[in-house]
Amino acid sequence: MTLIRKLTNNRNIVEMTCVAGIVTIFVFIELNFNLFERINVLFVSTFPQFKQYAFTLAGACFIGLLVFSVVQRKRLRDEIHEKDKVVSSFERHKIIDTVTGLANRNGLLKQLNEGEIRKLSVLGIEVCNIDTIVRVHGSHVAERVEVAIADFLVALSKPYNILAHTEQSAFYIAFPGLDADESRFRIDRIIESLDDIAEAGIHSDGLSLRIFVKYAVLSVDALEISAPLNGASILQRLDFVHRHVSSRGRENVVFYDQQMESAIAQRAFVEANFNDALESGEIVPYFQPFVDINSNRITGFEILARWKRPDGEIYPDVFIPILDQSGDLSLLTMSLLAQSCIAARNWPDDIKLAINLSPTDLRDEEVLEGFLLILSETGMDPKRIEIEITENAFIDEAEVTSQVVAKLKEAGMSIAIDDFGTGYSSLHHLRILQFDKLKIDQSFVREVIDNPESRTIVKTMVALGNGFGIPTTAEGVETVEHLEMLRKLGCDLGQGYLFSKPLSQSGVLDFLKQQIPVEQVSAEAV
Ligand code: C2E
Ligand code: CA
Ligand code: CA
Repeated sequence: MTLIRKLTNNRNIVEMTCVAGIVTIFVFIELNFNLFERINVLFVSTFPQFKQYAFTLAGACFIGLLVFSVVQRKRLRDEIHEKDKVVSSFERHKIIDTVTGLANRNGLLKQLNEGEIRKLSVLGIEVCNIDTIVRVHGSHVAERVEVAIADFLVALSKPYNILAHTEQSAFYIAFPGLDADESRFRIDRIIESLDDIAEAGIHSDGLSLRIFVKYAVLSVDALEISAPLNGASILQRLDFVHRHVSSRGRENVVFYDQQMESAIAQRAFVEANFNDALESGEIVPYFQPFVDINSNRITGFEILARWKRPDGEIYPDVFIPILDQSGDLSLLTMSLLAQSCIAARNWPDDIKLAINLSPTDLRDEEVLEGFLLILSETGMDPKRIEIEITENAFIDEAEVTSQVVAKLKEAGMSIAIDDFGTGYSSLHHLRILQFDKLKIDQSFVREVIDNPESRTIVKTMVALGNGFGIPTTAEGVETVEHLEMLRKLGCDLGQGYLFSKPLSQSGVLDFLKQQIPVEQVSAEAV
């Protein structure tokens, strides 16, 4: 808009300069050469019959020119006005949500950034079933629901509150100048009223539509924050709560707290430092043995990622999910496999290497190709590679997974179901997916002595493995009592601190050298 205004002003100056220039030229010629008198003489001598009209004709021409220039000027002004209108509606669209008339994400960011952020509370509202409403009733009905919610929020809010509709399912009310205590009553009241509306249903097109709403609350003063927040960092935190809120089952109000703040800081750290850490060798594979519990023979090692920094360790439970979401996990998986294959060149040929693959790894074509390349370049026999896939990864995307699993198996690798018992696979899934090993989750093994139900579950899983003709591994074997019970229940392999904690590359070599009978190893000694 400012650009167009500038151009318009420039044009005015150019126009006026041209007119002044032409007038000056005419005056100059008139003064020096009596131009008009000469023209008049020429005209009268050529058309003597029009002598008496000469003055009228000159006047008509002059008026004609005047009218023409006024019309042209008006046309130009109209054009500029139209352009201004288009530009201003474009600017409006950039900050206003066209469906509800509330601020959109840009508008919300703009208003948050313009206000005082140190004392601010924000309520985020997520309409969880809006996608279902679109699918079942169409987007026009969903839009009416959005407008109805926006109207309720407008009615419930004060003029100084900031209201926004940033995505189809997401609304925000920001309370500038209110801290956690001051905003609490207002937020509770809004949640209560919206819950009532959600329960009663929104009426549109003869339909009564129930909505399912979850809330995220953030008060800036309730957090210890090292760097000052801005609009974008506040929305980033609220997005984080929304993701959190969806995993919290029936709980529908979540307050953004210091713990979440630390998780965000951790995420930022991992994302910013991962590449350097991988390159500099800060992230390396560790190896935990799995052992045949009848012969005490080591049959293989599971590769577990370790990120050791000079100021302490970052645990895989923390960085793996972050890398999974940021899209960097496959890079780590391939690097771990390559490092492990090189390390395993010095190990006996019959020792297997088990590597964990996440559902995202399984969806990534490059991982499969990368694996094959690494195996061929390091001279590792694919038959020595076991792929651990968590039970739920099989279920969530059974079709894609089964295709990748088939390719991995075709290449000679074997497949183990990890954390078995914690997911919700059905016998049907177990039958269609050609896996080679069941790894019983450590939560059952931990209680196998004291809890008869866990014992029954372990026994049933072993029976299931036997039925499929595949071995079962018990994870988290920590005591000799565990080991004896697992033997009695018919389990084939064991993995856990009783045998060894995950070892560094040099630790594996020492461990392989001094393999001692497990019965002689007490839990305290490892
Ligand atoms: P997981 O695959 O179930 O790995 C077993 C975890 O149990 C490991 O934790 C291991 O150190 C721990 N563990 C082994 N024996 C015992 C025991 O006797 N008692 C107890 N309390 N724990 C035991 P870790 O290394 O912290 O890894 C945690 C999880 O992180 C792994 O669970 C796996 O899901 C994931 N993870 C680790 N490394 C990788 C990786 O390279 N890729 C992927 N996708 N996930 C990984
Ligand atoms: Ca595993
Ligand atoms: Ca496991």
